[in-house]
Amino acid sequence: MTINNKPETEEYQLGEETLSTSHIQEEITTCTVHEQGSKRGKPLLVSSDGFRYNVKKKQNNSVLWTCSSRSVTVPCYATVIQKGNDFVRGASDHKNYPEVSLNQKISIYMQVKTKANENVYESTTAIAKTARQDHIQLNEPGLLKTETLARIANRKRAKFRQANPSDLNFVLDQDFLNCQDFLVADISQNNARHLIFATAEQLQLLGNTR
Ligand SMILES: [Zn+2]
Repeated sequence: MTINNKPETEEYQLGEETLSTSHIQEEITTCTVHEQGSKRGKPLLVSSDGFRYNVKKKQNNSVLWTCSSRSVTVPCYATVIQKGNDFVRGASDHKNYPEVSLNQKISIYMQVKTKANENVYESTTAIAKTARQDHIQLNEPGLLKTETLARIANRKRAKFRQANPSDLNFVLDQDFLNCQDFLVADISQNNARHLIFATAEQLQLLGNTR
């Protein structure tokens, strides 16, 4: 974290609390912005000391981030002011506890979510395992279990997947499947439905056999 000891600006007012950048932190803290890191896909700032922040206000080249711990029981007024690539902590101390390995955790989440959407047919367990291997250097049990991550990936996919058919009268959405010529026959007979799929190449091969 870069320490700027600038006088506080009038534009940053948060309720009754006045923000001050005069608070100097001894240890070096780095901040990472995950553009879609929040649970709702909004920007998330993660500090290396284990805190997450949401955007409170954007102004020109400045962003005011407030600690995501805003519960009624433990309201935290800790802030970070971002100016370009400089991040400066506000005066208020955190009321909540830091989270262990937070940056790693968010990086793994982000990778799982992105890959689940990009590779729709890849096993979510495989995606989860790779993400853990990519971000966890040491054997850190309990950081994020593969099964938990696989569930997150499945939930992410469920949003844009078709629902499973409940009876035989479902509509086969070929636009969604992105394979207009793959279905060659759709026959309903005697309470049964027969869907025949083939590629043009497969039909040609079949036509050439004797
Ligand atoms: Zn806090």
